Amino acid sequence: MTAGHAHGVNHAVVIHGAHDVRVEERPIQEPGTGEVRVAVELGGICGSDLSYYRKGAVGDFRVVSPMVLGHEIVGEVDEIGPGVRGWDDRDRVVVDPSSPCGTCDRCREGRSNVCERPRFLGSAATTPHTDGGFANFVVARTANLVPVPARTASDVAVFAEPLAVTVHAVHRAGGVRGARVLVVGAGPIGSLLCATAHAEGAAEVVVADLDRQRLALAEAVGADRSAVVGEDDPGTEFDLVFEASGAAPAIADTLTRARRGGRVVLVGLPHGGPLPIPVAVAVPREIDLLGSFRFNHDEFVHAVELLVDGLPIDPLRTGTMAVTAAPDAFALAAQPTSMKVQLDFRAA
Ligand SMILES: [Zn+2]
Ligand SMILES: [Zn+2]
Repeated sequence: MTAGHAHGVNHAVVIHGAHDVRVEERPIQEPGTGEVRVAVELGGICGSDLSYYRKGAVGDFRVVSPMVLGHEIVGEVDEIGPGVRGWDDRDRVVVDPSSPCGTCDRCREGRSNVCERPRFLGSAATTPHTDGGFANFVVARTANLVPVPARTASDVAVFAEPLAVTVHAVHRAGGVRGARVLVVGAGPIGSLLCATAHAEGAAEVVVADLDRQRLALAEAVGADRSAVVGEDDPGTEFDLVFEASGAAPAIADTLTRARRGGRVVLVGLPHGGPLPIPVAVAVPREIDLLGSFRFNHDEFVHAVELLVDGLPIDPLRTGTMAVTAAPDAFALAAQPTSMKVQLDFRAA
């Protein structure tokens, strides 16, 4: 069906432990039944990749053996496995990194993002770890592929995965149409939340962060107004508050910003010790406090649609570096002013 064009080397970005990212050669795999091989073009460095880089762990998931990082990838179908229909050599695709089991109670009720036996590209949640997508060639199930139309650039399409996180958060909130929205935290996820909330019809999107530079970027992609934490008052009586910083004081503060009967959606993974939750504020005002984690496949598909429709995420791209310079790319991504750093696999 296809000759394939997998020659040469397969460079992979491998985490060995904190501050130990190496570029190593890995064998090029043949796709099995129902699978294709993808020649990766670009990969986006995510907060979880950075956590493995900084601490050798994400939360309780510690790297105990070398693991290929990465779960935000776009590329071209390069080789087609047995029994695969509907995909052709050179089709451009983004890969949904999430492979839920499909059979547990949560999967059956349509909440595969909280699957009890999930697999996720580039994750140390299980041992042996699941290798990620930061390599020249990656094998993926066709169920995980979403096509990218010719008019959408790869450096835009590669935002699909973090954007899907924000699409899911908006669903958890019950939608944002006509709502006054506060987004706390203007990192990549908080900024993408501003873009999604704006695109999905929020009446007003206010963003709060400590860093002016980040706030300017969040405004460039969709926030109507910004507030520097500790200097400006973001306001109160919001219909919806999205917490995307994970900082303990910010999480406690969200409850005081929501209106009576409002909703607070926690998207950022908490860090920084025990969390004081002002329950006395939340109970009489009947505020819904909701967790939001990853996304379902249909939300990933919707994220691709938003990008194809021209969601203005370009300002969030900090830089692009060749895969062979991956350690430098991680050092850049770890800078507090960096948003998205992309790895380029095409040149290597
Ligand atoms: Zn990600
Ligand atoms: Zn499941």
